Amino acid sequence: MPSYQRPRALEEALAALAAAPRVVLAGGTDYYPARVGEPCDEDILDITSLEALRTIEERSDHWRLGALVTWSALAGAELPPWFDGLRLAAREVGGEQIQNAGTLGGNLCNASPAADGVPPLLALDAAVELSSLESREVVPLADFILGNRRTARRPDQLLTAVLVPKPGAARAGSHFLKLGARRYLVISIVMVGAALEIDADGRVAAARLAVGACAPVARRLPDAEAALRGRPCDERLGRWVQPAHLAPLAPIDDVRASAGYRGDVALTLVRRTLSELAPRL
Ligand SMILES: Cc1cc2nc3c(=O)[nH]c(=O)nc-3n(C[C@H](O)[C@H](O)[C@H](O)COP(=O)(O)OP(=O)(O)OC[C@H]3O[C@@H](n4cnc5c(N)ncnc54)[C@H](O)[C@@H]3O)c2cc1C
Repeated sequence: MPSYQRPRALEEALAALAAAPRVVLAGGTDYYPARVGEPCDEDILDITSLEALRTIEERSDHWRLGALVTWSALAGAELPPWFDGLRLAAREVGGEQIQNAGTLGGNLCNASPAADGVPPLLALDAAVELSSLESREVVPLADFILGNRRTARRPDQLLTAVLVPKPGAARAGSHFLKLGARRYLVISIVMVGAALEIDADGRVAAARLAVGACAPVARRLPDAEAALRGRPCDERLGRWVQPAHLAPLAPIDDVRASAGYRGDVALTLVRRTLSELAPRL
């Protein structure tokens, strides 16, 4: 007989995972659609009663977003402009019902190439906190998602939080743009997260760019980021990004778009994301 557990305390949840592997259930918005028509014969660890994982906290050098923070909670949270990109992504994950149930942790652990949370969090240089009964590890998000639906999480670990470091400059912000087949309620064809830190002379001190749905895992664009450093932070910033900078991407043909179209859109969206963000900083 499959078993179902819904603990109220984190220690209890971690003890259950330490005892035997279980499928973790958060908002269920990825879990249930993946099992339509199938019997539910798995041992379930429902984590929705772990209220401690629903908080957003500011710490000295970073913010801590609990794994069960929903997209709605994130969109409505009092967070600085550094989080604008992530908040824009939050408003584009499905519709309101999905945003009310779906969580940040579920989006990352599901590890879809089209997960809208990943590019903005890569641009913020985020890390994930993985907890087990024995230990608590912090892993850069870039090392956590290994491939399509594959992560570095061990079966005895829960993703308990997402950690976002504070920017190094006072003038800093982020942005997110997504292209789908229509404006809302759609899986991304391409999405871009960008974060910029600006120095006292109005030039780019640091840039981070990440593109999703153009490779098995969302990818940073290190050559484009290097090409932006020292450039004036104005509405023409996007023009410094060249097609060769998109070499880390490997778009494919699928039902949503051709590889060629995805490549063209990625360049256009990266440039547009920068040119919309820069004048605001
Ligand atoms: C109609 C619809 C539209 C959608 N639109 C979008 C969209 O536009 N963009 C987008 O990115 N996604 C979209 N999604 C997918 C989904 O809503 C999001 O990925 C959501 O954030 C998943 O969170 P969840 O809490 O529901 O995850 P769940 O379904 O509960 O879990 C997803 C996976 O992560 C694991 N898991 C969850 N939490 C943890 C944890 N804390 N630790 C360890 N493992 C964990 C689960 O075992 C499961 O494998 C859509 C889904 C639906 C049904």
